[in-house]
Amino acid sequence: MATATEARTLQNYIGGEWVDAAVDSTLEDRDPATGELSAQVPLSGGEDVDQAVRRASEVQPAWRAVPPQDRARAVMRLRDALVEHRDELAALVTADMGKTIADAFGEVGRGIESVEAAAAIPHLLKGENLEGVAKGLDVELVRQPVGVVAAITPFNFPAMIPLWFLPYAIACGNSFILKPSERDPRPSARMMELIDGIEEIPDGVVNLVHGGRDAVEAILEHRGVDAISFVGQASTARLIATRGAETGKRVQALGGAKNSLVVMPDADLDQAVPAIMGSAFGAAGQRCLAGSVLVAVGDRARQDEVREALVAAAGDLVTGHGAAEETDVCPMVAPEARERAEAAVAGAESAGDEIVLDGRIGGGESGAFLGATIVETSDPESELAREEIFGPVLAFIRAQGLDEALEFTNGSRYGNAGSIFTTSGKAAREYRYGVEAGMLGVNVGVPAPVAWFPFAGWKDSCDGDLHANGVDAVDFYTRKKVVTARW
Ligand code: NAD
Repeated sequence: MATATEARTLQNYIGGEWVDAAVDSTLEDRDPATGELSAQVPLSGGEDVDQAVRRASEVQPAWRAVPPQDRARAVMRLRDALVEHRDELAALVTADMGKTIADAFGEVGRGIESVEAAAAIPHLLKGENLEGVAKGLDVELVRQPVGVVAAITPFNFPAMIPLWFLPYAIACGNSFILKPSERDPRPSARMMELIDGIEEIPDGVVNLVHGGRDAVEAILEHRGVDAISFVGQASTARLIATRGAETGKRVQALGGAKNSLVVMPDADLDQAVPAIMGSAFGAAGQRCLAGSVLVAVGDRARQDEVREALVAAAGDLVTGHGAAEETDVCPMVAPEARERAEAAVAGAESAGDEIVLDGRIGGGESGAFLGATIVETSDPESELAREEIFGPVLAFIRAQGLDEALEFTNGSRYGNAGSIFTTSGKAAREYRYGVEAGMLGVNVGVPAPVAWFPFAGWKDSCDGDLHANGVDAVDFYTRKKVVTARW
């Protein structure tokens, strides 16, 4: 049995074997809460990627020939293994990424949901036909796998996001290469160990290559990679989409976000405020669905009431280790991430914005801690109002009516998600109709769709037409072939 997560230097998983990367350079993977060294992550390069692509290509024709119902059973075995090891995986997510254990359980649960959705593959893969388009002439559409697909994933959901792609990709008959975030790759490595123990998934169908830019560059350049699923910052997403198009690959690239939460004058604050706390400060704001701008709608008195309620609730949040049960705000992924978020707050302060709640605590034990912070910004085009800070920092802005709130929201270059808090069906409908974003919540802080629906945003939050999960995943991982036949 392989021992990738115990090893000091992680190994790649290629063709059913744990192998050392063909490079000497490594990156330190540290526990965000304690700063302790957990592992050395090899920064694999072209040779490692080539090895993975070769093995994946070799086995793909035989895997494609496995009946879809048997591929579905293989995916179900993966689901069983993940359920069996749920506690351990959640603990590993907390240790590697930093989020609270409750949040990590939620993440692993959402990953398992994607696997469950992909197990419906015999239904999802069914084609179409039209009989008698001319005398004796029938037309049939079949779906066939793309071939070898790669997924390049971010640090903030180290278990769930690989599982947005892996189960659908292999269920459709492709072979798969995962390049997880180099900042917290241990949950991925552990999932590969589980896959290693599943007989129904043949060696080489699923592979793991650790690394950073060099590995991504090699994936982009390799002629044997047919499609790439990417999730990460908007700038990286654009780069992957552009380079992928140049090298003739199918690409879906989900990017960053700046999601606003609109609180209407009639919103029930007892319901809204706890949801907003989870949205803005859960996972220390390091979610693509985080609500990072709050738009308080109404007259000045109502806006002040909302602001006071937020400050009171956020002031009670406990900042601490993700593994501690009482923690609300976990550490950020690394001290540098905290420094970047604090620099944005300092920039707002020197521009004259009001720091309504100051969570700056000097980084704490590991240097990665930043408490819940709320900043009122009078400039709707300020950095805090428009740019992704990816920390526990909520920008507070005011709007007189829903029109103004929508104008602000739609002025963002991002369009990932957004939520409205209201007791008015009319306002909710108007918001739903007019807002430019892919995932919406009504009286819900983090509008994460369940796995049977596609997941992604609009505008700079997603390059490519097809989203992750649901029927979009099957469209992305298959090619359509239309046959016109006369007998
Ligand atoms: P990132 O873009 O830094 O890294 C993502 C992946 O790309 C990693 O595997 C990394 O190794 C690789 N990478 C990074 N820079 C690269 C470069 N210049 N060239 C080639 N490869 C490169 O993202 P991150 O910081 O790990 O993740 C956080 C970001 O992901 C946030 O912006 C967040 O909003 C976004 N995100 C979006 C979604 C979504 O559904 N839209 C979901 C989760 C996270």
